[in-house]
Amino acid sequence: MLTENKYKKQICDIGKRIYDKGFVAANDGNISIRVSENEFLITPTGVSKGFMTPDMILKVDGQGNVLDGDYRPTSEMKMHLLVYQERPDIQAVVHVHPPFATAFAIAGISLDQAILPESVVYLGTIPIAEYGTPSTQEVPDAVKKFVHHHKGVLLENHGALTWGKDLEHAYYLMESLEFTAKISWIAKQLNGDRELSKEHVQTLIDMKTKMGVQGVSPVGSVPPEGIHAMKMTPPLEQSLTEHDVNLIVEKVTKNVLDELKKLL
Ligand SMILES: [Zn+2]
Repeated sequence: MLTENKYKKQICDIGKRIYDKGFVAANDGNISIRVSENEFLITPTGVSKGFMTPDMILKVDGQGNVLDGDYRPTSEMKMHLLVYQERPDIQAVVHVHPPFATAFAIAGISLDQAILPESVVYLGTIPIAEYGTPSTQEVPDAVKKFVHHHKGVLLENHGALTWGKDLEHAYYLMESLEFTAKISWIAKQLNGDRELSKEHVQTLIDMKTKMGVQGVSPVGSVPPEGIHAMKMTPPLEQSLTEHDVNLIVEKVTKNVLDELKKLL
């Protein structure tokens, strides 16, 4: 068990990592750790998470009352406390606005496809919690229904939230969540984000069960939609660039003119 000072330092270290990773802009994002059943360390509002020092970290109770600290706690504290209230096994919560995952949250696309084996096993599915005005009770209310069976959520038109057995775990889940969203987006630009088949997913779920990893897993696809569909050729309209189209138009025009000239 780390001492409170070490936990405060760990929050600052993870704050620097989320800032350096581009998971937050300006003073966005917040991090918390449970230090006893009803006591939590949490980041302050109005401070860049990349440049925090341990003295800035506050201690609050389960109702959000400040027990120790000179700063004001994050306005998004309610969703952190909701997670701790519902999940006594959780020791840390991370909330950030990572660009790819946040874009999915804006587009209304949850991360529930079986596209990467690691995501199937360790991350599971990441649903979208319905939009709530930041700092209000609407946000924890929206998160509540997903907190027991998932490792995190996308917050609609807002960002992402993960929770873990310690702070490093919660942070790594956030890295995986953003990485999955990024890869999914890139694959969509190429040949579509083809899913693993149901059979492949079942093998991964068996591994996951043996490893004791909890949480809802993606279902996987049934051919012909899955990776065995071998849709390796992109649709014609996607494979042609504007330059290709101009060349074709030029060539067809020339052929037509040549044919007309023969008639004259
Ligand atoms: Zn936020």
